[in-house]
Amino acid sequence: MRAQPTASHYIDGAYVDDTTGDSFDSLYGYTGETIATLHDATPDLIDRALASAARAQVAWAALPGVERGRVLRRAADIMRERNRELSELETLDTGKPLQETLVADATSGADALEYFGGIAASIGGEHVQLGDDFFYTRREPLGVCVGIGAWNYPIQIACWKAAPALACGNAMVFKPSETTPLSALKLAEILTEAGAPPGLFNVVQGRGAVGAALIDDPRTAKVSLTGSVPTGRKVYASAAEGMRHVTMELGGKSPILIFDDADLDAAVSGAINGNFYSSGQICSNGTRVFVQRDLLDPFLTRLSERLNGVVMGDPLDETTNFGPMTTERQMQIVLDYIEKAKAEGARLIAGGARADRDGWFIAPTVFADVTDDMTIAQEEIFGPVMSVLTFDTEAEAVTRANATPFGLSAGVFTRDLARGHRVAARLQAGTAWINTYNLTPVEMPFGGVKMSGIGRENSREAIAHWTQVKSVYVGAGTVEAPY
Ligand code: NDP
Repeated sequence: MRAQPTASHYIDGAYVDDTTGDSFDSLYGYTGETIATLHDATPDLIDRALASAARAQVAWAALPGVERGRVLRRAADIMRERNRELSELETLDTGKPLQETLVADATSGADALEYFGGIAASIGGEHVQLGDDFFYTRREPLGVCVGIGAWNYPIQIACWKAAPALACGNAMVFKPSETTPLSALKLAEILTEAGAPPGLFNVVQGRGAVGAALIDDPRTAKVSLTGSVPTGRKVYASAAEGMRHVTMELGGKSPILIFDDADLDAAVSGAINGNFYSSGQICSNGTRVFVQRDLLDPFLTRLSERLNGVVMGDPLDETTNFGPMTTERQMQIVLDYIEKAKAEGARLIAGGARADRDGWFIAPTVFADVTDDMTIAQEEIFGPVMSVLTFDTEAEAVTRANATPFGLSAGVFTRDLARGHRVAARLQAGTAWINTYNLTPVEMPFGGVKMSGIGRENSREAIAHWTQVKSVYVGAGTVEAPY
């Protein structure tokens, strides 16, 4: 099985194949087959990508916003027309079920292109009168921006970065994760077809070293990373050397608080979506599920019943609702965490092992009696492992939920809406959901606090992170000087 596209890079408006750099394979998690072989970008290709972005950016920024927006909106339409083809590619690259990729990946990317295409025309500053003098501010593009993606939502991540960046008049060089390198190339192809000038959005492949070279280049004005906290630390530090702007979308260990007055089925659905969708490979997952003591047994019983509905199988079969891990390595990392949980005394309720079938499947795993000091309650696992913890009071639950260096997301399930809002206000997180979980519409800001990140993606908030402000003061009277 081979997946298109097969050229490694997309530079200056065209696919570029160059086999000089070291090769790496993209594998399909269901069969372990190689679906594409790509090559690391050489320093020469990195230079060409940055140079073409710098050239394209100047003319692009000079266009009226409405014209930039039109290109993005056309790209959104093309993505929707090609949703099935893009979803199948994403399924092969990530192993996620087609049932998911058809509704959550390219479609979410198209939403971002449409949304930022729509507001490109209205990006602007403010005017303030100071007597007869006045000043106004201009929201100017940053220039050439670098996007670096994680492997779980490849085309969504590329679009969430490219759409606002381009709407604001920037150009981009994007480096996908080496594990899921293919769909960003499709985005580049689609943007070209929609009318984006050559060089506006380039894709170069490679491992961390390619990302590091992009960040260190003096032409780079900003880097936006989606990845783990350790990578975020490195990228933020090297961006600081050049005083570059950053957006950091990093990992999490988010809490879901389920009070005993909650709608039980809604809470179980929230916990399932927040732990097992994409086989748990989602940054915002609510992997610490705090359940109030009286609800614990009914919660575990209902959850176990609902897990009978898991359909593992060929991800390209639309009835499959649970896929393999994206890489064998990630499967092993998750299995190691499961063994640690058992050794540290957590009570296994479901799963707990590699599924007895071909492919890198881990059965949806639930541990109860998890305590705050256990490894699985502290570290991001990035796999289908739910930790259930028990609490008695609201104050205790909030304190324990916040006792983590991460702060990406949080959830609260309760029928008491006053409590819902109070708890949402006290949880240290970039996003808090009340009576639902993991919904991330493009209209809503998304990002983390504490170690989970800096800056926000999506919504009008993103504009502030892809532009810089220039103040222009206009004197209307005589100019006084002391001598
Ligand atoms: P990594 O941090 O391992 O990698 C992220 C990206 O950074 C990859 O493209 C990687 O390249 C690249 N990279 C690695 N080292 C460097 C470096 N020194 N300089 C520049 N780039 C570098 O993350 P994963 O791909 O493993 O993704 C999982 C992580 O991403 C989890 O922690 C998850 O929580 C987080 N995530 C956060 C999201 C958010 O929006 N907050 C959303 C999705 C995931 P390569 O892979 O080729 O090594």
